[in-house]
Amino acid sequence: MSFYEDLVLQTQMGYSRNRSVYASGKTPVKLSQRAPLSYSEQIDRCVRRIQQAECIVVGGASGLSAAGGGDFYYGDTPSFRRHFGKYADKYGFKGAFDGMYSRFDTREEHWGYIATFLDTTLNAPVRGPYLDLDEILKGKDLHILTTNQDTQFVKIYKEEQVSEIQGDHRFFQCSMCCHDGTWDAVEPVGEMTLAMGEGTSIPTEMIPRCPKCGAEAFPWVRGYGNFLQGKRYDGEYEKISGYIQKNADKKLLFLEPDTQSAGCVLHFCKCRVRFSAGADRG
Ligand SMILES: [Zn+2]
Repeated sequence: MSFYEDLVLQTQMGYSRNRSVYASGKTPVKLSQRAPLSYSEQIDRCVRRIQQAECIVVGGASGLSAAGGGDFYYGDTPSFRRHFGKYADKYGFKGAFDGMYSRFDTREEHWGYIATFLDTTLNAPVRGPYLDLDEILKGKDLHILTTNQDTQFVKIYKEEQVSEIQGDHRFFQCSMCCHDGTWDAVEPVGEMTLAMGEGTSIPTEMIPRCPKCGAEAFPWVRGYGNFLQGKRYDGEYEKISGYIQKNADKKLLFLEPDTQSAGCVLHFCKCRVRFSAGADRG
């Protein structure tokens, strides 16, 4: 078993074992009794570590987008109402992800919803926390590892600097995973949104279909049981693996900005890690 497979397995087992603890808002980790550093001391330490680091892996997740106004995924927020209000009024779901599981009256309306969702993220401006982070890390050698699908990081950084391990809204895949291919979603999403106008459905002939088997397409994202873990997915892992292997002897900082608690998790790691590509098939 590779380092990465083992890591995923351990994480999943830990989560299953402690699910009820997490669900009650607690943590199974024994917390230190030591008084936390003052806020300014924490900031100083963070700055010092960033300065000392020869290279940095940034672990970026949904908090960064939520803190910058992209807070429509999990709840009935004003931004959710603004983008998805017409669907929410009709079907009663709360949050954009919730809507993805909703049963729509027609496939045309289902795709109207998907197009709205993808259009909302693809055309969002680069959000404030990303710009702040970029400013803080200016001039550093860095790589981004993200679970976000909303393309914020690739709006700032080069593709080779970003590993998107949970998919990316810019691509479609076959909903049945009949072949290992992804293709552009940006242009069809633009066309669907335009054709929909103020309505909630797209024309039948615009429903995106797999070029090989004719099944409906699906956004290339994890979370719905059909995430295509093929060539593109392996490529994302190869980027982060390559970066870590290349810098294994350097002072490598793992930086996990947590904008929801206005905190930041820092780990220095100077070790030879075996981090192999494309291992997560679970
Ligand atoms: Zn297919």
